[in-house]
Amino acid sequence: MENQGKLKQCVFCDIISKKLESSIVHEDTDFIIINDTNPDAKKHMLCIPKKHFANLFEAELEDFDTVNNMIKYVSQNAQELGVGDGFRLVMNNGEQATQTVFHQHMHVLGGQQLKHMQKNFDINDETSYQCGL
Ligand code: ZN
Repeated sequence: MENQGKLKQCVFCDIISKKLESSIVHEDTDFIIINDTNPDAKKHMLCIPKKHFANLFEAELEDFDTVNNMIKYVSQNAQELGVGDGFRLVMNNGEQATQTVFHQHMHVLGGQQLKHMQKNFDINDETSYQCGL
């Protein structure tokens, strides 16, 4: 597999294999949920597929089932996860979308009134760029 090289140095693979310590919220057959170590909201969790694939560009058909399972789990257990009053799901795919760890993951944000997402583009200023979430 072309990801073999990355697998050896993947922080999320190390978390899944418990080589690295993390705050695990839930472990399922095909994904885990951990608390983000640098939270952007009162509740900020990461859903991480146990199988390594970089992002949705590299996802195989079965990987979308895992993504669906993650969304379903969060939706059906929002209260227990502390985001019962509302939550935001974010998946950054590719460097241009500010993806930093190239093992697919989904951010779950909530536990408080969230602000609107940052505007990334000002239609009156084509050179403008702001790094959103
Ligand atoms: Zn990985």
